[in-house]
Amino acid sequence: MPLLKSWIESANTPETPFPLNNLPYGVFSAGDGELRCGVAIGNRIIDATGLEAVGILRADPNADVLDAPFWNDFMELGPEAWAAYRAALTAMLADTASEETRDALTTYSVPMAEATLHMPFRVSEYTDFYAGKHHATNVGTMFRGAENALPPNWLSIPIGYNGRASSVVVSGTPVRRPWGQLKAPDADLPVFAPCKRFDLELEMGAIVGQPSEGPVTMEEAEAMIFGYVLLNDWSARDIQAWEYQPLGPFQAKATATTISPWIVTKAALEPFRVPVPPRERALLPYLEEHTPGLHDIELWVDLAPEGKAPTTIARTNLREMYYSPAQQLTHHTTSGCPMRVGDLLGSGTISGPTKDSRGSLLELSWGGKEPLTLDTGETRAFLEDGDTLTLRGAAQGDGYRIGFGACTGQVLAALEDPFAR
Ligand code: CA
Repeated sequence: MPLLKSWIESANTPETPFPLNNLPYGVFSAGDGELRCGVAIGNRIIDATGLEAVGILRADPNADVLDAPFWNDFMELGPEAWAAYRAALTAMLADTASEETRDALTTYSVPMAEATLHMPFRVSEYTDFYAGKHHATNVGTMFRGAENALPPNWLSIPIGYNGRASSVVVSGTPVRRPWGQLKAPDADLPVFAPCKRFDLELEMGAIVGQPSEGPVTMEEAEAMIFGYVLLNDWSARDIQAWEYQPLGPFQAKATATTISPWIVTKAALEPFRVPVPPRERALLPYLEEHTPGLHDIELWVDLAPEGKAPTTIARTNLREMYYSPAQQLTHHTTSGCPMRVGDLLGSGTISGPTKDSRGSLLELSWGGKEPLTLDTGETRAFLEDGDTLTLRGAAQGDGYRIGFGACTGQVLAALEDPFAR
């Protein structure tokens, strides 16, 4: 598919993350400070809440679904409404649109530079998976040796844990270094101290846009997914190492999870579908892929020490993942676990096969043993106070790109001992 031309000229450049082919959904405030649903196009944001209120563009003829600052009510309408709304919006923003339409949408839009972005949807529940084989192999090799790198279940089950929706924050929110129980390998007992091995995890978040009650097939799961955000699963490696057996991550992953502010829809990413890589062990039939479930999306991570220029510390691609979001969602429902509109599924860390394509500092510095040298000359084994971490992603089309917008956060110093008296 070629670039779709818009009458908003800034949407027609090869560099913009937000051409007419994209149309991602977010929540913004500008001027009056009121939170409104918006759609990114070039360097502007269309006020979708305003267009609905005056009847120029409605997703549901009978009810307002964009009158609250999240896209959950819109998602609830289902795939037919999603497609109709996208088609109508595309026509109104195309270079074939009438003068009258252009005037109306110019009135109901703001320059992106004047807007503040907020959480684009209400996170109902949050599950984080572990579906990257390079990541699981690297981490397993560090902890258990190369012979036992992958757990016995890994090639059969897209494994995950139930995270905390309350900890999910939008890009730009500072992240406070946590305190926790740490136990050095040679120590007999733990201490309570600020995390010393604070890390990122480069992930993609899939947003569930339709509810389910019982088990869903792969086809049903694919239809339930609404869109995607970049996701940074901030991880306290030293807390994790002491707490993780036998029930998996707990406080190590509960400080914060940052998501990018624009929901890139499944529809926008349709031209970039790729199948999961070949299976090393046959999957049980319910998890077999029939529709290519991954996407060709380039991803990269920038690390900027406080007040300094960023260094790109990793480059990888979503197609490196072993399990797709549909496989994760299908497996999630096998027990009968109900899914809800606004559920967020983290992919797991997206690492590639090469050293510079690893999606966490744990892997990039090989457990802290091989610190990275940044362009500033500083070294990093793990994150330091003041560091700003930014994830970015884009699917490259023919003369255009589908971008995600930045997923960023600065690490703040730990508070004083919260239990001191
Ligand atoms: Ca993770």
